[in-house]
Amino acid sequence: MSKYQVNDKGYYGPFGGAYIPEMLYPNVEELQNRYLQIMEEPSFKEEFEQLLTDYVGRPSPLYHAQRLSKKYNARIFLKREDLNHTGAHKINNTIGQILLAERLGKKRIIAETGAGQHGVATATVCALKGLECVVYMGEIDIQRQAPNVARMKMMGATVVAAQSGSKTLKDATNEALRDWINNPVDTHYIIGSVVGPHPYPDLVARFQSIISKETKIQLLSKTGKSTPDVVMACVGGGSNAAGMFYHFLDDEDVKLIAVEAAGHGVHSGESAATTLLGKEGVLHGSRSILMQTTDGQVVEPYSISAGLDYPGIGPQHAWLFKSGRGKYVSATDDEAMQAGLELTKLEGIIPAIESSHALAYLQKMNFSGDETVVVCLSGRGDKDLDNYMKYFNL
Ligand SMILES: *Cc1c(COP(=O)(O)O)cnc(C)c1O
Repeated sequence: MSKYQVNDKGYYGPFGGAYIPEMLYPNVEELQNRYLQIMEEPSFKEEFEQLLTDYVGRPSPLYHAQRLSKKYNARIFLKREDLNHTGAHKINNTIGQILLAERLGKKRIIAETGAGQHGVATATVCALKGLECVVYMGEIDIQRQAPNVARMKMMGATVVAAQSGSKTLKDATNEALRDWINNPVDTHYIIGSVVGPHPYPDLVARFQSIISKETKIQLLSKTGKSTPDVVMACVGGGSNAAGMFYHFLDDEDVKLIAVEAAGHGVHSGESAATTLLGKEGVLHGSRSILMQTTDGQVVEPYSISAGLDYPGIGPQHAWLFKSGRGKYVSATDDEAMQAGLELTKLEGIIPAIESSHALAYLQKMNFSGDETVVVCLSGRGDKDLDNYMKYFNL
């Protein structure tokens, strides 16, 4: 077993675990006891692979971006998660979890969502399987993200407004947990990133690991070698990065670079650069690194990209950071927006602003010409057109 993977107690080094109220034990223990066994069943694997192929559209291409490569003096490949059904990597996880929920005998699905991307991915798989879907979303986010709310409703989901606190993601998470406590027998809670109590960080990473599994095969056929020199991904909670890193964790000569959102600047008071600003603590059921005040209150994060606007990172990332296996860096709003426009002009691909953060770090790498680099293009930019238009006065 890799020292970077979860151990049998649910920890990555000092991080992870399941810090949950006693009333959630039955739900979480059921998952802990059964997830690996279910995921190993041949019929599970077969259905997961078939849906990834025929419904999601996998394998996603590994595209050699030649004009981008020329600009940065490296051989740069983009792993095209933006071409997946629903436009991002999140569907890999929700497909996996809906199949898990079915096999656990669950009839009802709940989820929390901030920007609505995970809510849409969850509503999608519930429509696919004909399961009841309830998505908790902060009242303020419901107003800010009307198109995603409409998508969820079209797919038959009920969107419930979280009215407490700041009326954003963390309040929606609290409401979803309350629902789960009250409905332990028939309901599965689909968490959207590599966060939450064990086993969520591990099971989400396993579902997203298809990204690096395909990348290795594609690199071998394109370059004659299955490992690149550098792998890069953006990090909100960290699921696309976890999937992009997964099969490279033990290839110690592959550099893993995770890019967080620095918002208006790391020290501006308005950012989401968790590893740079955060301290160890417990958030959403696991021990990790999070942005908090000296008396332990969670600091409201900020980023122009809603998907990176999260005050923590998953426990595996905290461990990759602390152990030195991964390099954790950041890009500001401005750097990301410029990188997004640059990719559009050089390659004709409009990236999600989240993904633009990973691209923004290319200019700080100073490549020497022979490096092979893979950047995870976690999503497409259609959902961000308003933001791009405002930013660039289009
Ligand atoms: C949600 C989202 C992210 C951030 O989530 P991770 O769990 O860190 O991957 C990144 N990119 C896109 C396109 C997203 O929708």
